[in-house]
Amino acid sequence: MNPKALIQHKSDGQEISKSDLTSFISSYLNNSINDNDMILFLKAVHKNGMTTNETFAFTEAMIDSGEKIEFSNMDNYIVDKHSTGGIGDKVSIILAPLMAASGLAIPMIAGRSLGHTGGTIDKLETIPNMNLNLTINEFKSNVENHGISIMEQSSSICPADKKMYALRDITGTIDSTPLICGSIMSKKIAEGIQGLVLDIKTGNGAFMNTMDKAVKLGDALQNIGESFNISTDIIFSSMDQPLGNTAGMWCEVEESIYTLKGNGPKDLLELTFQLGSKLLVQAGITKSETSAISIQENLIQSGKAYQKFEEFINAQNGMTSELKSVNKPRYEIIIRSDKSGYITSMDTLKIGWALVDLGCGRRDKNDTLDPTAGMEFIVKIGDEIKSGEPIFRCFNSKKNKLETASQKLMNTVIIGPKKKNHLLFRNQ
Ligand code: URA
Repeated sequence: MNPKALIQHKSDGQEISKSDLTSFISSYLNNSINDNDMILFLKAVHKNGMTTNETFAFTEAMIDSGEKIEFSNMDNYIVDKHSTGGIGDKVSIILAPLMAASGLAIPMIAGRSLGHTGGTIDKLETIPNMNLNLTINEFKSNVENHGISIMEQSSSICPADKKMYALRDITGTIDSTPLICGSIMSKKIAEGIQGLVLDIKTGNGAFMNTMDKAVKLGDALQNIGESFNISTDIIFSSMDQPLGNTAGMWCEVEESIYTLKGNGPKDLLELTFQLGSKLLVQAGITKSETSAISIQENLIQSGKAYQKFEEFINAQNGMTSELKSVNKPRYEIIIRSDKSGYITSMDTLKIGWALVDLGCGRRDKNDTLDPTAGMEFIVKIGDEIKSGEPIFRCFNSKKNKLETASQKLMNTVIIGPKKKNHLLFRNQ
């Protein structure tokens, strides 16, 4: 089918065959189809969805756009974790070295910021000299020698996701089950893993903002994983408020370092340990999630998890000394409460877009990010606050952007008379 007919077919809600999807994607990669046509296709899928068979075929076509890695020479259980996208979600930066320190091997292909959510690659790139653009051989040998490597999609691995991801970011075509399935699962399957845990975000800052949508996405992702012989566990976690104490660029790496050194915030640690427990149980390292949590606590307390983080960063050229003085923001604004009471809700979506405006995300393909930019959440849902006390600290190195972003934060926090608890984990 020619590209124009394929786009029309999808716009009419028709199913596309695997061979047509494969040739459409490869034509896009060799530039015989331009960005405008790809945007029309993405919009048609976003509007009309895909059947289950079509979603599988689309994911396979995305995997086949590049190479697939194999680790058959390794005895370790090969795993990964992926989240569907959040604010302040720095779990991958903590969990990957933690799992590698426990003896699992973790080859992670991660993404940049997407829409209003942050990206692991953008955050890790704030580490001086850090190389996230590895060849497949470099990536593989890091996993073989250190049990861990993180890289972004490249021209050899998941090139279709790399190119389409950047377009979805700026065209409002992110929150689509088949597009998310193709994007996430092509990366995970190409990595050659045996086990996977997925953190499906739900709530007002998630792409899947209701539990119903999150469950449908979780089922679709899990079915694809299992059909490629990857043991796939799912956790549903809340994005009704940001995760941890900070969101943004370097500040999230810094918070990850504190966490790996034993000083992490409770919600971030709880989610990391829950996800890690699924992988440790899958790998047969322990049978119970309770003991999996104490294994992880010990790896942090003994310093082994942080040592593994340093080993991973150094193996990719990144600097781990003198980090105290890097990425210092030039400006900051504190946003204060104008009343007393308890924090009862946070508009996480708006907070995410304010972060984009601060310099942590893109509205245009060529936008450059500000490594110093971010936000500290001084209070979260359930905390008591008095009039005049701080809610957010926003910082970056571009004054006009700081002012625009701070304006966006007005009315993003509701304060009420009664304490309300926030539930981090959500059940099906
Ligand atoms: N993470 C991805 O890698 N892709 C998506 O589409 C959403 C989250």
